Amino acid sequence: MQPYSIEMAWFKRDKKGIITSTQDKKEAPDGIWNKCPQCKKPLHYAEQVENNYVCHYCNFHLRIGSAEYFALLFDNNEYTELYGNLMSADPLNFVDTKKYTERIIDSIAKTGLKDAIRAAHGKIKGQDIVIACMDFNFIGGSMGSVVGEKIARSINYCIENKVPFLLISKSGGARMMEAAFSLMQMAKTAAKLALLSRAKIPYISLLTDPTTGGVTASYAMLGDINIAEPEALIGFAGPRVIKETIKKDLPKGFQTSEFVLEHGFLDFIVDRREMKNRIASFISLMNN
Ligand SMILES: [Zn+2]
Repeated sequence: MQPYSIEMAWFKRDKKGIITSTQDKKEAPDGIWNKCPQCKKPLHYAEQVENNYVCHYCNFHLRIGSAEYFALLFDNNEYTELYGNLMSADPLNFVDTKKYTERIIDSIAKTGLKDAIRAAHGKIKGQDIVIACMDFNFIGGSMGSVVGEKIARSINYCIENKVPFLLISKSGGARMMEAAFSLMQMAKTAAKLALLSRAKIPYISLLTDPTTGGVTASYAMLGDINIAEPEALIGFAGPRVIKETIKKDLPKGFQTSEFVLEHGFLDFIVDRREMKNRIASFISLMNN
């Protein structure tokens, strides 16, 4: 005898498919819950925002984008976006699983962003600052020509207006669809940062989870002060590639902020909840 049959199921769906029309759908309520990726405890959305997107239980720093960092750092979330209309061309007519041009259009539609970085001028604790912040949601925060160009123009702007520069990195590395054009951005941004330094204008680099590849190998490590969020992945190549190259086992956690700090590549690790105060005090120290 079968333990049960279809007719005996406790719950039976009598209408198939989703039948709610779009206009009748309800917005997700304010009390929405999310799960911490590290400790798996439930996080209430409003509390998350209040705690600067850091888990209250385990201090895990959730991945956030430029909109959240701007809100966190700029006074009253007031800022003027710079070069907001720059968009990527497709100089190589690149195609992988789909055309690069289509990938750009899809990413713009999905994220509401034009590319993987946004730059803006505002104030932090009353002091002028230009912040450029990468967005990981846009093609893995990859550095292509638009990222390089926005950084270069932002640096020019900082030199002309004598404003300190903060760059928040969050990137999988160079954008492979632009091949050598993306690699050229490393030299271009590094050269511009040298001009910024010659003009004696402070540059703070903030490395967040993850900062890897050509971004680590160029502007992310060139700050007058290099700071990172706790437990961020910071590296150049992935662990497997390094292991195969050097033929040695790698120490545990060797690509975390803490390990990188211990080995002298970072100046400070700063909890995100302290970030605004710390950056504002670095700027006031360097301005004077
Ligand atoms: Zn947690």
